Amino acid sequence: MKTVIIGAGFAGIAAAYGLKKDFLILEKEGRPGGLCRTDVVKGFVFDYTGHFLHLRKPETAAFVMKNSKTPLKKISRKAFIYSHGVYTDYPYQVNNYGLPGDIAAENLAGFLRAKTKGAPSKESFKKWIYTTLGEGIAKNFMLPYNEKLWKYPLEKLTLEWMGRFVPSPSVDEVMQGIMPKGKSGVGYNAFFFYPEAGGIESVVKGLYGGAAQGSRLKAQVKKIDMKNRMVFYDGGKESYKSLISTMPLPSLVRLTGDKKMIKLASDLKATSVYCLNIGFKSKKKFNRHWVYVPESKYPFYRIGFPSEVVPGNAPAGCASVFTEVSFRGRPPKGIDAKIIKGLIDMGIIKDRKDIIAAHPMILKDAYVIYDKDRAHALPVLTRELEKRGIYLAGRWGRWEYSSMEDAIIEGFEAAKKAISNY
Ligand SMILES: Cc1cc2nc3c(=O)[nH]c(=O)nc-3n(C[C@H](O)[C@H](O)[C@H](O)COP(=O)(O)OP(=O)(O)OC[C@H]3O[C@@H](n4cnc5c(N)ncnc54)[C@H](O)[C@@H]3O)c2cc1C
Repeated sequence: MKTVIIGAGFAGIAAAYGLKKDFLILEKEGRPGGLCRTDVVKGFVFDYTGHFLHLRKPETAAFVMKNSKTPLKKISRKAFIYSHGVYTDYPYQVNNYGLPGDIAAENLAGFLRAKTKGAPSKESFKKWIYTTLGEGIAKNFMLPYNEKLWKYPLEKLTLEWMGRFVPSPSVDEVMQGIMPKGKSGVGYNAFFFYPEAGGIESVVKGLYGGAAQGSRLKAQVKKIDMKNRMVFYDGGKESYKSLISTMPLPSLVRLTGDKKMIKLASDLKATSVYCLNIGFKSKKKFNRHWVYVPESKYPFYRIGFPSEVVPGNAPAGCASVFTEVSFRGRPPKGIDAKIIKGLIDMGIIKDRKDIIAAHPMILKDAYVIYDKDRAHALPVLTRELEKRGIYLAGRWGRWEYSSMEDAIIEGFEAAKKAISNY
């Protein structure tokens, strides 16, 4: 085979489209999609937590629209922050309207003070927060939220991952946000696309149609012989000229047996996410797609409402909510009860008896940690692997913070590199 692709998520499938022929996809699961699969439980449609398509590039938009199994709806974002007992618009940093007066004043004064103190620090994410957004926004949102999400010291996080994911507003934007209807549309995800039915997996199902002929499911890659360019997987082995990997980078490196690379990759870290999806009886209209929850009295850092994104995601007379709790190591003990209590305290679920479905999911390497170790190891690993005809694509393949659209773009790019190596 000219190119073997590890993984049939968005990145692997896009790579197959880029190659057009002479490829074999090896996927360890029984169905394609990776993290963009969807489970249907008692009529509730649950993605592996909220998966909303933000399509910035016309080429990727056209590729997805043309191949999705179900038409996609363009939906205006309804994203909020819940703190001090009130919902305010996302992003927090430009939407002080609606917060208690003392908190809004603290946020504004801190922001203006930071603006007059000169250029933001690039030393660490924590310093960047203080010097760009000020101590009020740091204390009331950015620190508690990010500590909850990353479960890693923020002073050890570098800045490369932030890009479009963390808005850095101007004074004008912040001032507009002290009035009703603050600056809307700020941030990378002002609108998104989502399938009319079937959850995010229905996009994968359509795309996979064009790659299925060259794919094997339940075919976990177990070993890679880089010298002889062979992969060994459940049920077989295959030679390659180029290999495209979308599986998590540290696991890929372990399969090669290369001691130097294994040592380097052992410095790469990620935060895991426990997601409890809940379907419950409710006639209430929540009018929200997702909500960031910074306060430590709630165990989740974010929740979202699949049934508000498209009504078909829940049976009639019901609603659904996904909850995201991050952890390093093992999921916290007794977490389900704490999540349900949190949802009751927030007034989302009225009574435990209303719960019809509770569907947990574990996302092992959800958020790649950007620290000095990653900054050192990643370029070396990428270079060494490329020298041996191995190309990386996707969020975990390239060990980065990125989206479904990025995975598609990187799949096509990896295909080009693979072909140039024939
Ligand atoms: C909490 C969370 C929320 C997110 N929300 C969004 C969102 O709203 N919008 C958005 O655009 N993106 C979102 N993302 C990012 C999105 O999930 C990824 O960008 C996308 O899934 C990456 O696709 P991929 O093909 O690179 O990886 P994957 O989907 O992980 O595909 C890799 C595949 O490789 C397979 N594999 C692994 N090991 C082996 C092996 N040894 N042999 C064979 N196969 C193997 C896996 O089974 C998997 O199918 C989110 C991510 C997280 C963690």
